[in-house]
Amino acid sequence: MNSLKVGQLILALRKEKKMTQKELADQLLISDRTVSKWERGIGCPDISLLPSLASLFGVSVEDILSGELSCNVLDGGNMKRIKFYVCPICGNIIYSMNTIDIACCGRKLEPLEINKPDDLHHLNITESDGEDYITFEHPMNKDHYLSFVAQVMYDRVMLVKLYPEQSGALRMPRKRGSKLYYYCTQDGLFMI
Ligand SMILES: [Zn+2]
Ligand SMILES: [Zn+2]
Repeated sequence: MNSLKVGQLILALRKEKKMTQKELADQLLISDRTVSKWERGIGCPDISLLPSLASLFGVSVEDILSGELSCNVLDGGNMKRIKFYVCPICGNIIYSMNTIDIACCGRKLEPLEINKPDDLHHLNITESDGEDYITFEHPMNKDHYLSFVAQVMYDRVMLVKLYPEQSGALRMPRKRGSKLYYYCTQDGLFMI
């Protein structure tokens, strides 16, 4: 732990929360002199205090230990860089316009890599009544199924959740220039 960096981060986060050293100290049931020491880089917070400190500031324990917050470059959130995340434990689906630090069920999630569709992961798309009628032959059993199809347009995302045992067909509004992302519980993310 670099006590100087950690101290500076604590100082910055405390100011952001508009708290005095005393107010922070009171929340942690420690003395304000201890807070002052941290912020001057003389000693680091005790490990037992890190979880409360992190939750007070709304950051992770890791962030405090590293003494810095990882930030994305401001890019206006271009949809072309959309990233999908799926929790391997609970199946939670998250998408973001940029890479984010995100965890679910206690595990850090990595953005899904996009695979090239093979014969098994092929979607048939036909137009009907101004909509895309999407069908697929992919299995839909509990251990192996497509769990979502997301249509990504320049200004919106429409995500359709699919469930095991359901038929391999869905409808999406027909949108020019949109991309379809879909996820197989065994083989990962595909895009067309
Ligand atoms: Zn989860
Ligand atoms: Zn599959």
